Amino acid sequence: LEWCVSVPKVELHAHLNGSVRNSTLFELARVLGDKGVIVFSDVENVIMKDDRTLHEVFKLFDLIHILTTDHSTVTRITKEVIEDFAAENVVYLELRTTPKRNDSIGMSKRSYMDAVMEGLRAVSSVDVDYSPAGLKTNTFNGSTRKKMYVRFLLSIDRRESTEAAMETVKLALEMRDLGVVGIDLSGNPIVGNWSTFLPALKFAKEQGLYITLHCGEVPNQEEIKAMIDFLPHRIGHACCFDEENWRKLKSAKIPVEICLTSNIRTETISSIDIHHFVDLYKEKHPLVLCTDDSGVFSTSLSREYNLASSSFGLGKTEMFQLAEIAINFIFADDGVKTDLRATFEEAVKKLT
Ligand code: 5GP
Repeated sequence: LEWCVSVPKVELHAHLNGSVRNSTLFELARVLGDKGVIVFSDVENVIMKDDRTLHEVFKLFDLIHILTTDHSTVTRITKEVIEDFAAENVVYLELRTTPKRNDSIGMSKRSYMDAVMEGLRAVSSVDVDYSPAGLKTNTFNGSTRKKMYVRFLLSIDRRESTEAAMETVKLALEMRDLGVVGIDLSGNPIVGNWSTFLPALKFAKEQGLYITLHCGEVPNQEEIKAMIDFLPHRIGHACCFDEENWRKLKSAKIPVEICLTSNIRTETISSIDIHHFVDLYKEKHPLVLCTDDSGVFSTSLSREYNLASSSFGLGKTEMFQLAEIAINFIFADDGVKTDLRATFEEAVKKLT
C-alpha cells in the first residue's frame, strides 16, 4: 500500500459528498442531533454500515446531504476532501458535485458552487492550481510545496428536470474560468429517463464542455446504447453491459472510470475476480482507476491501486503505467497534461 501511496495519481471520478470523512459526518450529526433536527443514533447506524446495496447508498446520500448542505459546511468538506486527496499524492483531481438549490436557506446552485470554490481557496496544505489560466500565470512558481491540479465537473442528478439540468449546464459555462471543465450525469440509476437529460447534455457538448456519464450501473441496455451513441468523453462504471453494447463501447474507445470497491460494495459486480477491468485492461481499452466515494466506501485511491494490483496480478511497472496513462483522459488542457507527464517522468526514476 505504501508504494501505491507514493505513486503520483490522477483521480477522475470522485463525488464531493461521497468523499467526506466519517469523522466530519459524525461531528456534523452530533451538532444536528443536539439541535433535535435528526436522531444521532439513526445516523450512526447508517454511516457505520459496511455493505450497502446501490439502493441503500442513495438513501445514505439523502442523509449526508441533510448534514452537509449549508454554505459553510460545503466549504469545509471541499477543503478537507481536496486535502485528503493531496495527502494521497493525487496530482490531478477532477472533483464532481451536484449544485443544489435550497430556498429555505437562501442557497442557489450558484451560491452552492461559490461555497465549493471558497473551500478550494481555503486549502492550505498544498499548492492548488484550479484555473485553466493558472499555468500561464505560473501558480506554482518557485514553490517547493506539493502541488496539485483541481478541476470540477458539475453533476446532474437523475431526479432533476430538463430545466434544472439546463441550469446546471449554464452554471458550468459561467464558471469555466474557475476550473469547471465538464458535466456528469449521476444519481440513482433507476430514477429518471435519458431523454430528460439529453437536451442539456447535448447543449453542454455543443458549448465545448466535456461529458462523463454514469452508464450501466443497472442492466438497462436501451439506455446504455443511447448513452454510447451520444459519444460522451468518458463513462463511469460500465458494469451491466450486454455483449452488443460491450462491443460498441470497445469500438468507440470511450475511456471507462473504474471504481472497484464501489462496484463490489454495492453488489453491482458480484466478485472482484469477474470484474470487467480484466477484459478492458487486456484489450488495452482506455481506463482509469477511481474511488467514486472514498468516504462512503471507506477507501482511497491508493487502496484502489493496491486492490487492482493484488487482485489482477499487476506489478509495479504495470501499475505505474496505469497511473500515468490516466493523463490522456483528463478534461484539462494540453498544458496541464504536459506538466503532469513531467511529474510522472520525475517519479518513475524513484519508483520502478
Ligand atoms: P454530491 O454530488 O452531492 O457532491 O455527491 C453525492 C451524489 O453523487 C449522490 O447524491 C449521487 O447523486 C451521486 N453519486 C455518488 N455515488 C454514486 C454512484 O455510485 N452512482 C451514481 N449513479 N451516483 C452516485
